[in-house]
Amino acid sequence: MGRKPREKGKNRSKKPRVLDDHVQHGKKFRPPLLDYMLTSGHGPPVLEWVRWALPEVLWIKLLIHEYGIRNAGELVCATVEAGKAASTVANRSYCMASDFVFTSEERAKFVHTLGEGPANQVSRAFATFVKFFPDFPMAWMVRETNLDDAIAEADKLEEIKQLVGDVRSRRDRPAMEIQTCAMFSIVASGGLIMHEMPDFNLISEYPDTDPSREMGAQVRASLNIFLGAATGSAWAKAFWERGRSISQCLNLRRKVPPPNTSALMEANKAGTRFARAVAMEVGQLAEAFPPDAQNPRRVEVLLGLLQRQSQIAADMARMPPLSMSPWAEMGQRAMAETLIRLKWLAAKDVQENYEWFVNYGLGQEKLHIEHLKTLLEGEQRTDRDQIKAEIEARESWLNEQRYSWLQEVDVGGGAHDENLRTLAEAAGCSDLRSLVFQPMSSDVHGHWNSIARHNLTVCANPLHGTHRLPYEYARPIHIEVVAGVLNLYADSFTVVSTLAGSESTDSAAVKAWYKEADEAKGWGFYAPSEENLTEEPTENDADAQTPNSSASPEAEDDSTS
Ligand SMILES: [Zn+2]
Repeated sequence: MGRKPREKGKNRSKKPRVLDDHVQHGKKFRPPLLDYMLTSGHGPPVLEWVRWALPEVLWIKLLIHEYGIRNAGELVCATVEAGKAASTVANRSYCMASDFVFTSEERAKFVHTLGEGPANQVSRAFATFVKFFPDFPMAWMVRETNLDDAIAEADKLEEIKQLVGDVRSRRDRPAMEIQTCAMFSIVASGGLIMHEMPDFNLISEYPDTDPSREMGAQVRASLNIFLGAATGSAWAKAFWERGRSISQCLNLRRKVPPPNTSALMEANKAGTRFARAVAMEVGQLAEAFPPDAQNPRRVEVLLGLLQRQSQIAADMARMPPLSMSPWAEMGQRAMAETLIRLKWLAAKDVQENYEWFVNYGLGQEKLHIEHLKTLLEGEQRTDRDQIKAEIEARESWLNEQRYSWLQEVDVGGGAHDENLRTLAEAAGCSDLRSLVFQPMSSDVHGHWNSIARHNLTVCANPLHGTHRLPYEYARPIHIEVVAGVLNLYADSFTVVSTLAGSESTDSAAVKAWYKEADEAKGWGFYAPSEENLTEEPTENDADAQTPNSSASPEAEDDSTS
């Protein structure tokens, strides 16, 4: 059992804790509803609309498309009732295509109950779709004459694509029309008794009014019970597989105006001035520290860390394209970590911590040397001499500071996140860790939230479901990112210059850069607005999307079977 959400009351800390309302299981935090579902064995709580439900209720969209929502509503009801009359299988709502897998006897009974006119209407509405998707469980409702008349041409496939695309988003109006028809037919056929029947006619004003949105929410919630059976549906699988085989991927590219190169050059000049100014102010700070020949570590560590910060800041100021993702995140994360460490060292300012910092780094060096040595033990390598030379160079560097046989190795890790959290808390800068360091860690490690957002896009072909494709996003150059990096340096400068006892602890170099950036209005090379981003298929994709290669199922069958 997991730990329950913490009681709110006397013991509540001043600051609300993140995920306080979640249930903790070791290092995982679950939302209460999910936790209930998983611990009570109710299975996955969410209906996957596109993957499973959409193919099952698409037949309703075909009817709406052909006859309009009002007539389609009646036709859906009649179909559901006829289905119910024809088949005796329990637990079917007859709003899913798979509910209509009938024996020939049941089929005859169904058509008889539905009546000639409506049966004909259904047949006509499904004909083209069946031409492209012969495995459709309701395909038998299409009469031969209608099937013969239907033509499998490229523009017809485009029409189907469009219909599927229209209903991909479950809460949007077109998908809500399907769901309202389905729910209406279930209620009308006695599949569900509702004490307070929603007014299904409100669909005509959905989603513009509050009552219509309430009706929509009620429909979706009730329908979850009936569409739950769609999960794992063979037809849904077949539908998406067929979609993939008869049409190609479509990658929509955002056209972004290229960055203004002359503006970039101006920014580069200002960045170069910043780099010079920053080198000067770090140099002056080094002189301001009172010398301590006995214990040089403290000042070495502080100045070394500050110099690293100034280097990243100066590089980015000179080269604004470095502010593109993921380089910006990598740089900023490294700077945030260094700033946290600086603040922690400064808050305590005891010799022991500086020694610890140095010792940890030397231990890392020794660990690397040991790994290199294992390379020499194994198989014959052609690069033995290079490896030996590297080991020698690294050992001599290490021995200059401390004999390697006296060096301990801390594999628990001063760079370990847990450790950094403690440091940030002790230094009073937890926000720096949780708001800067932590989110950017996903970019550095290449976690899914970063990869999916920055390196993949959902295929724009509706017949492909929602699979993602590799994608080169337009990466605008943001002056704000450069400014943010410079701020991280400025904060680091303040920490170190305070310890040095300087009169002014503000970075003059950063101030000067800000002044230039303001006067040049950020040089105008950054942040294209949403309006001048247009979507269009890439040229390659447009070429690949020829009607002949994608639209004829017959041709496709020949080539794949
Ligand atoms: Zn695709």
